[in-house]
Formats: sequence, structure tokens, C-alpha cells
Amino acid sequence: MPVIELLFPNRCLECTKVISGGAAICQNCFDQLHFTHHRYGQSNELTEKCRLLFPVEEAFALMHFEKESASQKIVHQLKYGGREKLGALMAQWISASIEFGNNPPDLLTTVPLHPRKQRQRGYNQLHVFGDELSRLWQIPCDHALIKRNIYKKAQALKGREQRNVNEELFSVTKPLQHRHVLLIDDVFTTGNTMSAVAWQILKSGNNKVSVLVMAMD
Ligand SMILES: [Zn+2]
Repeated sequence: MPVIELLFPNRCLECTKVISGGAAICQNCFDQLHFTHHRYGQSNELTEKCRLLFPVEEAFALMHFEKESASQKIVHQLKYGGREKLGALMAQWISASIEFGNNPPDLLTTVPLHPRKQRQRGYNQLHVFGDELSRLWQIPCDHALIKRNIYKKAQALKGREQRNVNEELFSVTKPLQHRHVLLIDDVFTTGNTMSAVAWQILKSGNNKVSVLVMAMD
């Protein structure tokens, strides 16, 4: 065992048991993760939630997001704990469970952070995740396709700001026509962010949108 692992052994995010280097959680905690088992090409609760907000081709989530659970800890460590590589691990879990049928996406993209937020955090928690999916699926991933224009959260805006927010929150940065874009985010809660991005993609040309998230509420 390398000295560094003796000094700082890798521990399970959930139960803190010592585990091997590349892993995030122990087998016991992994077995307790609440995977959705969504199938691409089959309607599910996420497809239905999305359809209330925008026309969506396919939608799937890897896990159910439960408070105080291992799924929450994984996403939290990925976003705020600097553990960007957890994204690659989740990408591997997803790619093992998803098979594209006859309606595959031809472009992956990630929901962007505002540049100021990304500088503060040091990274966008979706980039390693998206890049690993791109590598596994052999589908290009463009992190720069969408730009976030407003720093504040939509909920924090007032009055006239809020009325126009879905128009102005995001924009598409380059010509986009006849593409099937798989839009990637971490957690689906209200769907407001997804919807704002999806409408920009749909409006910019004759495009289709599918959705992939790590976890859904
Ligand atoms: Zn554990």
C-alpha cells in the first residue's frame, strides 16, 4: 500500500469505513443507494415532470435524491468538497445502465455556472462527469454551448427581473440546428433551470432535447 494511503486512507463517504483508493463508497453503502433504474426510451417520473415544462425526448436520473443519504453526500462532495472525480464514477455507473435505442443524442452539454461562481468554486462539478460520458459513449460534449448570463438564482430576482428571467438566464453561444442535445445537470428539483436551458436550445433551431441528471428529488 502506498505511504499516502497509509497516512490518509480513503474512506467511504457514507460510513467512513476504509476502502480502496478509487472508490467513493463501500459495497455495503453502494448496495443501499436508491437507483431509479430508468430506461432510455421509456417514460418515467422524470420524463413526466419535464413534459410539464418543455418538450423533451427522453429523460433519466441515476438516483433518487434523499436527504441525509449516501446519494446526497456523493453529490454534495462533488459540488462543494472538491471531489470532482466522483463525476467520472457516476458517469461509469450511468453508462453501464443506459442503452440508447433508435433515438440517441448526438451532442452532450452541461448546465453552466456563472463564470464568477465557477472561479469561486474552482471547477464546474459537471465537467468531469460530462467528459467521462462523452468518452464512454463516443458522443461529443460541449461545455461552452450554453452561457449563464445572470449570477443570482432565479428565485432571488424581483419584479421585472423575474418576469424576463427565463428569457435571459441562459443563452446558446453558437449556431445549433438539427441536433439532439442531451442536457446534463446534477440534481433535478423544480426543473426551472433545465427548462430555461432547454427552451434556449429549442428556440435556436430545429433541435431536440433530452435530459440526464445524477439525482432527482
Ligand atoms: Zn460505507
